[in-house]
Amino acid sequence: MVELSNFTSFFVANWKLNGSFQFISQYLESLNKEKFTKKCVVLCPPSPYLNYVKDLSKHSFIGAQDCSCFEEGAYTGEISTKILSDIGINFCIVGHSERRKYFKESNEAVKDKTLKLIENRIIPIICIGETLEEKNSNRTNEILNKQINESVPESANEHNSIIAYEPVWAIGTGKTPTLNEIEDSHKFIRKINKKFLNFKILYGGSVNIKNSKQISDIKNVDGALIGGASLKIEEFIKIIINSSWFNFSY
Ligand code: PEP
Repeated sequence: MVELSNFTSFFVANWKLNGSFQFISQYLESLNKEKFTKKCVVLCPPSPYLNYVKDLSKHSFIGAQDCSCFEEGAYTGEISTKILSDIGINFCIVGHSERRKYFKESNEAVKDKTLKLIENRIIPIICIGETLEEKNSNRTNEILNKQINESVPESANEHNSIIAYEPVWAIGTGKTPTLNEIEDSHKFIRKINKKFLNFKILYGGSVNIKNSKQISDIKNVDGALIGGASLKIEEFIKIIINSSWFNFSY
């Protein structure tokens, strides 16, 4: 399992349903030239490309975008944590809002997947976040509390799991919360249970080269989960280089 405490910050590239052999080889030709000390870069391609990205990548870790609740058997189309572990995958995003929305993924399913990932020594990146409607009715903390309590298993700790705060309304929209709102939500998450105090908590939602430096200055934020901007390799590299994330103790 990757030793999270070796890194001061995390940059997770969620490619979603994008990529091709040509895209990947050009992407990694650029990324492989960079070596980021203490900055953990995780590439999450669509699953058919996991091995290819792993083979070409020199300094990055590889993450899946989802995994199955099932270990093995008659579950056509599923990819188990055991198989992900067998092919050497280090991280896996779980509970992304797009999975919750389009595939009706529940907190219980997220918890189940997280448990299996931890058992297979893969670091789950557990996504939580409120919708615009929930934000506008001042329910952000209530939603975060519920999602954390229902989707993070007992066995999750600061060494084997990461949390990503991703306001649903900020994903792919170009809109972001204010810096204070991001800081408040991260602080709130740390306080839900004292075991979250030293968790790595990433922010995700329209992070780009224009806002990443400011977001990286927020004390309670340990890195970013990046969708759209991670597909542009020059921008992704700049985001990593320009960030000022350090290892704070809370
Ligand atoms: C995401 O995919 O989790 C995400 C944050 O996307 P974007 O950066 O495009 O908002």
